[in-house]
Amino acid sequence: MTTPTWEIVIGLEVHVQLQTKSKIFSGASTAYGAEPNTQACDVSIALPGVLPVMNEEAARLAIKFGLSIDAHINQRSIFARKNYFYPDLPKGYQISQFELPIVGAGKMEIETEKGTKVIGITRAHLEEDAGKSVHEGFHRSSGIDLNRAGTPLLEIVSEPDMRSAAEAVAYLRKLHTLVRYLEISDGNMQEGSFRCDANVSVRPKGQEAFGTRAEIKNINSFRFVEKAINFEVERQIDLIEDGGEVVQETRLYDSEKDETRSMRSKEEAHDYRYFPDPDLPAMILEDSFIESIRRSLPELPEQRKIRFVDEHGLSPMDADKLTSEKETADYFESVCEQTNAEPKMAANWVLGELTAALNNASLPIADSPMRSAALASLLNRISDNTISGKIVKEIFSLLWESHDSVDKIIQDKGLKQITDSAEIESIVDNILKTNADQVAQYEGGNQKVFGFFVGQVMKQTGGKANPKQVNEILRNKLD
Ligand code: ADP
Ligand code: MG
Repeated sequence: MTTPTWEIVIGLEVHVQLQTKSKIFSGASTAYGAEPNTQACDVSIALPGVLPVMNEEAARLAIKFGLSIDAHINQRSIFARKNYFYPDLPKGYQISQFELPIVGAGKMEIETEKGTKVIGITRAHLEEDAGKSVHEGFHRSSGIDLNRAGTPLLEIVSEPDMRSAAEAVAYLRKLHTLVRYLEISDGNMQEGSFRCDANVSVRPKGQEAFGTRAEIKNINSFRFVEKAINFEVERQIDLIEDGGEVVQETRLYDSEKDETRSMRSKEEAHDYRYFPDPDLPAMILEDSFIESIRRSLPELPEQRKIRFVDEHGLSPMDADKLTSEKETADYFESVCEQTNAEPKMAANWVLGELTAALNNASLPIADSPMRSAALASLLNRISDNTISGKIVKEIFSLLWESHDSVDKIIQDKGLKQITDSAEIESIVDNILKTNADQVAQYEGGNQKVFGFFVGQVMKQTGGKANPKQVNEILRNKLD
């Protein structure tokens, strides 16, 4: 834990791979997982004389993002060369945007322990991805796979507005949800379609000036972001408290050792010798182009969340969880359309039992063996008292494993709730007769024995007796 005298400051740079069919400056395919270099066209491998041609779809997806965070869209933006040498970058420079990015300042809201907080987004710019070095399968050498070179990226840069690892993760999750709702990226973190650099610094509480930051590169899971930041914060505080100084540098997070390590001293913008790419003209966006994208925006997670609260009477917390994945929100709404049960009950089942079962089976909700129609009819049978609360979980498991309908399962397994008062009464009578001792205890003032009787009735009926009726009948007989 950190001592209260230190304040943590975090800004994130997130690289989102845009889901265009072809690369940002050529027609080569961007599909993931192909044989190495089969998608490395002449532009990807930087043959002399080739020229980049801007992919309109990449601009469209970037604008979609910009509009969804209320950002200023720069109708004139510039591509620049960012010069550095690396084996996976045969041109010797990356085409990016520097002074005039396509998306200017915007903002996003996150939920924190202290309520809603606004995180500023500084900018989002288009750039091309580099290739990959491949070390596996090469003896004392490395391979270079240029399939990824030229894949369009949107780099989203936040203001240094986050004050804890938890806030950074909340922001990152919100961003992840958003890009998937917008369908501008598949957000696949294992495949590197959504990766994050975390800039971390600390300062004494009350001090206005920021401390020196370290940048932790390429973290590819939410859990690692949290761990990497927490490790880095501890390291910086220990360093300063021991009389040392944080140096501005690029660090690498090692998830196996759970530590960050220095990679290189931080390069400054001037190290990259940015200059406008002479092969690409300024990108000019017409009003009509931007407006047509605005009209095509889907319902955003934030709007859907508010609608779930208004329309379905859910708590903001439940609405937030249900809308964090589009598929989950769709599933929930589909259940609601098919059931008479309260939306709150549907929400509890989707977030509770269903999510647990899906996690257990490592399945995404889109592949749920239990379709929304099945869950809806299960909820109907609970609402109309056909089945008791005690037995619902058993039916849920049976439903999970079979394609039978809820009603068939209830019938086949004889799981229908017993609501016939006469039947329950005769069971109660029998239990009271055979447990005379407990009856005497109850009459002697021991209220706790009541639960024993309820338990006996449930045991004898295999949990099928309607609990409300059992309680009523027992009270009538005993009091
Ligand atoms: P660069 O492009 O060199 O990485 P920027 O100044 O554009 O640097 O900042 C990159 C990121 O670092 C941004 O997300 C910003 O919010 C964050 N940042 C800047 N200064 C600090 C700081 N002192 N502590 C934490 N984050 C910072
Ligand atoms: Mg940076």
